[in-house]
Amino acid sequence: MNCHICNDLCDTFTDEKTKITYYYCDNCEYIFKSPECYQDFSAQKERYNLHENDEKDAGYQAYFQRFLDFTLPLVGQPKTALDFGCGASSLLAKMLDKEGIKCDYYDPIYHPDTLNDNKKYELIVSTEVFEHLHQPRDVFESLLERLKEGGYLALQTQFHPNDREAFEKWYYHQDPTHIVFFTAKTFRVLCEEYNCEFVSENGKNMVLMRKC
Ligand SMILES: [Zn+2]
Repeated sequence: MNCHICNDLCDTFTDEKTKITYYYCDNCEYIFKSPECYQDFSAQKERYNLHENDEKDAGYQAYFQRFLDFTLPLVGQPKTALDFGCGASSLLAKMLDKEGIKCDYYDPIYHPDTLNDNKKYELIVSTEVFEHLHQPRDVFESLLERLKEGGYLALQTQFHPNDREAFEKWYYHQDPTHIVFFTAKTFRVLCEEYNCEFVSENGKNMVLMRKC
């Protein structure tokens, strides 16, 4: 199997507990579950409906605030933004609106008809989305197309520990809807491929890139 990010040949390993096979790319550190683990939309939706993301919940707001605290000091003063894959809630978009950034939101399950293909943004944010994508490279490319030149793409997804033993104990891949895993290096490689500037990462779960 070749890497879906950089096309290098992948190594493979099997989780002893779940027997799921994973593919690992040495070049870009991308890990993906064997494609038979990928679920269709309805199965995913059932799982997402279990998430209780209450907009008034202080913890939920603080969670997005941490993402904004990482992102906003680095992106100048964008006037327009898109929250791609917002889920049921538009809380992050509302929080960006409060910062003076007019934010649209889109979700393939909950808000599927909100995208305007002719509109380009100065900032696109996407939190806890990329780990669900069968072909994240295609989505990365399509998000770049929705960015203005010089616009920013800010993503949140947990970086994997890049260590086989630690990976097996890691909670994040045990969610059946989480199928692909990244480190900051994976996004550095994507930036090289698409001639983007890699701006920053937080060593844990956030990364900021810029369309050149
Ligand atoms: Zn790769």
